[in-house]
Amino acid sequence: MAALTFLEARNAVLTQCSPLDSPPAIEAVCLEAAAGRVLAEDIAADRDTPALPRSVRDGYAVRAADLPGELEVIGEVRAGERFAGEVAHGQAVEIMTGAPIPAGADAVVMVEHTQRVNGRVHIAGAAEPRQFINPQGCEAAAHQTILRPGKRLDYSDVALLATFGCTHARVFRRPTAAIIATGDEIVEVSETPSAFQIRNSNTYSLHAQVARAGGVPRILPIARDTVEQTRAAIVGGLTADLLLLSGGVSAGKYDVVETVLASLGAEFFFDRVLIQPGQPVVFGRVATTFFFGLPGNPSSTMVTFEVFARAALELLAGQTETALSMPYSRLTRDFRHRAGLTRFLPARLSLDGAEVTPVEWHGSGDVPAMTRANAYLVAEPGRPEYQRGEFIRVLPK
Ligand code: AMP
Ligand code: MG
Repeated sequence: MAALTFLEARNAVLTQCSPLDSPPAIEAVCLEAAAGRVLAEDIAADRDTPALPRSVRDGYAVRAADLPGELEVIGEVRAGERFAGEVAHGQAVEIMTGAPIPAGADAVVMVEHTQRVNGRVHIAGAAEPRQFINPQGCEAAAHQTILRPGKRLDYSDVALLATFGCTHARVFRRPTAAIIATGDEIVEVSETPSAFQIRNSNTYSLHAQVARAGGVPRILPIARDTVEQTRAAIVGGLTADLLLLSGGVSAGKYDVVETVLASLGAEFFFDRVLIQPGQPVVFGRVATTFFFGLPGNPSSTMVTFEVFARAALELLAGQTETALSMPYSRLTRDFRHRAGLTRFLPARLSLDGAEVTPVEWHGSGDVPAMTRANAYLVAEPGRPEYQRGEFIRVLPK
């Protein structure tokens, strides 16, 4: 298969995984458990909000046409109350933020622009009608749909559910992701490796990444680099909604993952992408289950999950959209890379995110360097040189 560019590969994932043939099952969760879940129903406003015209400042409710001038203060209204009377010509009502506008008033003047003298208030400036008043229903009208299925709920969505009296939300069941590490040299974390062996770290970085993306990780045993063992592991993993393999997808003699997947009737959408780390990354499907073969070097596994597999998992979770936010930041030093590949290199963003500095690293296996990074520099394939002070894209970690 021809190698794809980064964007082509990302588009292949988005196209294949969306829309879903069969949406995930639905369950109800309480508000405290709703953030991070994907909404499975329409939510409508149960009333106008605000339910009455409301003041957005502390001050005085007035008739705009009376100003400038001195007005008689006939009472006050606080949030949670309603003023019984009516504001007539030459009158004002002291009002607090959030309180309903009394009948007769058509503007609010901020308390900072007034002078109270005994029972009267002096206002030197003019007022626009409707100033500092939120009209009834301006935020949402009763019965208006305010959230739609497929949205991953964030904290503001949870606030909206609460505002409209939803004690529970119907959400999609979280997708499961099976995780299989492959490799003859890989030993369990609890084992003492010989000098020629390596502890399994990919299973655990993937576990954390899957959970953060809203999936349910399912760890399977390490598969050795034989067709039989890899095949048995993959068959077990295909019962999940998404199968994630680490290692075994390079061109080596013992990289058997692709061969085994092909023998299981896999359809491949790509098996090489012009990125680094992670060039040999594989994406495909066996029957209805999508899989990723993520190259085994730890940073390759981490990066290819973030830029490809996370999108797949989010779409399988029922999300209608998935984003990869890569803002620009200014380089603190000159930066050079070999053209032709999109590179994701460990980097540190400054506290305000305005500046970015590459982290010194020793290649795709350098996990300590990855932990010193809080972002990846995203170097473009067509641009081998960046000067200090120039903008470069950044993928926050
Ligand atoms: P592979 O993609 O199978 O060629 O693996 C490339 C390299 O990644 C191996 O030589 C190991 O150093 C490392 N590696 C592979 N799998 C793991 C794993 N599960 N945990 C940590 N390192 C791994
Ligand atoms: Mg291997």
